[in-house]
Amino acid sequence: MRPQAPARGRLAGTVATVAWTRRLTPRMTRVRLVGESLAGLAAVPGQTLKIYVPDLVSGCPVSRDYTVRGYTGHDQTGHDDDGAEPHLDIDFVLHGAGPAATWARRVRPGETLELVGPSGRYRPDPHADWHLFAGDETALPAIQAYAAMLPAGACALLYLEVADAAERQPIPGVARPTVCWLHRGDREPGTSTVLEDALRAVRLPPGRGRIWVAGHAPTVRRIRAHLLDECGIDRHALYVRAFWERRGR
Ligand SMILES: Cc1cc2nc3c(=O)[nH]c(=O)nc-3n(C[C@H](O)[C@H](O)[C@H](O)COP(=O)(O)OP(=O)(O)OC[C@H]3O[C@@H](n4cnc5c(N)ncnc54)[C@H](O)[C@@H]3O)c2cc1C
Repeated sequence: MRPQAPARGRLAGTVATVAWTRRLTPRMTRVRLVGESLAGLAAVPGQTLKIYVPDLVSGCPVSRDYTVRGYTGHDQTGHDDDGAEPHLDIDFVLHGAGPAATWARRVRPGETLELVGPSGRYRPDPHADWHLFAGDETALPAIQAYAAMLPAGACALLYLEVADAAERQPIPGVARPTVCWLHRGDREPGTSTVLEDALRAVRLPPGRGRIWVAGHAPTVRRIRAHLLDECGIDRHALYVRAFWERRGR
């Protein structure tokens, strides 16, 4: 894939350089990408990027979807937002031997990454009476980004499935949401019902709410069905996205 020229804030394809990696928790690592090619990206945290990483089995690049966790580009005057080189952060769950997780675990500063995007227009609805965000650790970067967009005093509930307390991360922003960390313990990701159980038990606030759910595909599908069929949630108030699926078992 060859890098192409930016088209009004969106790159068809670009190559960025790894500046550093930082372990955020035992199972999550941040990769900071830098490079002038990122300057015109106009990425918003929470948007999606398609990244291309080598498949160690076939040797060919494969694409995977990841979330923009942080972005600093050039402002309109041509100066950097904070005086730094344009950069983009992606937080990777180190879940096992998949190509993307393996790449994130092994990558070193100076190596490059091909990416396409960003895409996605989801933003928390500023007119909603309340917000509910739920997901496993793959959804945490997006939920952190959306939480940071909420205004002070917003009524927000966060349901976050992680392995254990060591995987908890700060929730940024001024909204001070109610955060419910759900630990699946020794259960493998995708085999626990803690997230589904919590959402079945939740008492939704009154008024016009918005619900965003992402993570393990079968889990979020069951949650979607519950919210639509048993709670009578308006489908337009609900955004559900399958982020990953267990395969090969
Ligand atoms: C819009 C979108 C945004 C996403 N954002 C992020 C993000 O910011 N950070 C992030 O870490 N992930 C994110 N994901 C999820 C990520 O794309 C998947 O986890 C992806 O499958 C990882 O690719 P891989 O090459 O490591 O593993 P794959 O080759 O896809 O899978 C290899 C094996 O690992 C298993 N597996 C895959 N993901 C997981 C997991 N999370 N836990 C346990 N087992 C797993 C698969 O079932 C398979 O058996 C996002 C997905 C989408 C659709």
